[in-house]
Amino acid sequence: MLKNKTALVTGSTSGIGLGIAKALARQGANIVLNGFGDVEGPKAELAALGVQVDYHGADMSKPAEIEDMMTFAARRFGRVDILVNNAGIQHVARVEDFPVERWDAVIAINLSSAFHTSRLALPAMRAANWGRIINVASVHGLVGSAEKSAYVAAKHGIVGLTKVTALETAPTGVTCNAICPGWVLTPLVQQQVDAKAQALGLSNEEATRQLLAEKEPSMQFTTPDELGELAVFFCSPAANNVRGVAWNMDGGWAAQ
Ligand code: NAD
Repeated sequence: MLKNKTALVTGSTSGIGLGIAKALARQGANIVLNGFGDVEGPKAELAALGVQVDYHGADMSKPAEIEDMMTFAARRFGRVDILVNNAGIQHVARVEDFPVERWDAVIAINLSSAFHTSRLALPAMRAANWGRIINVASVHGLVGSAEKSAYVAAKHGIVGLTKVTALETAPTGVTCNAICPGWVLTPLVQQQVDAKAQALGLSNEEATRQLLAEKEPSMQFTTPDELGELAVFFCSPAANNVRGVAWNMDGGWAAQ
């Protein structure tokens, strides 16, 4: 379905971003990977799916590096057809204790980077009259949780950016939508399980159970593969007129 299309997925060396990149690659899309840590492993996994893969290590908190990545992707593949804004970090502290530097980093990586990639990707998408922007928000783009002020503010912000981008592109073949996962067991969430286990003296298993029980009625993690399939749906012809939605896949979290 996505043969001859190119998808750039930010923060795709791990977790949800890698899951989405794999799902798009299974549909034939060439992939531009981004993110830190091991690059060769994810690159090889994607290449094994028979698509072309390249990597740019832009730091999503740095607009000049984002610009360089977008230029690199356009030069390498002609155009970015599918942009998945996924890179994200978390920091947990009360508002009055929240380190200012961490606030700035969360807003830059989880929100402003999507503005920069989108503004740079949109002209070519408009010219081709086809494009997909998928913003990985969170259930925290819909509801709040204590001690996550920067994250919740950034995720509500990206849901707003999604709506405005969708409105501005509504008469065109470009769509913009957001995915709002509940708990997904990636390194980002394992850190929160570890913090809970340490603070309360719990085993990993019990801390995981308590984390789910607090928020997620299904008592079940959403998987990167499931989120990848939702991204594939947003790229499909059936989703041509799905515009500006914030679609939660959260085990019932936001339904409460
Ligand atoms: P993860 O930690 O597994 O992956 C994060 C990715 O972002 C990695 O590839 C990392 O290298 C990259 N990254 C981090 N900082 C970066 C920077 N400055 N520049 C470029 N890349 C950077 O986390 P994840 O759980 O897969 O999270 C991915 C997205 O999904 C995030 O936006 C997160 O907020 C969102 N999300 C996660 C969950 C969850 O339960 N895990 C739930 C809802 C939303």
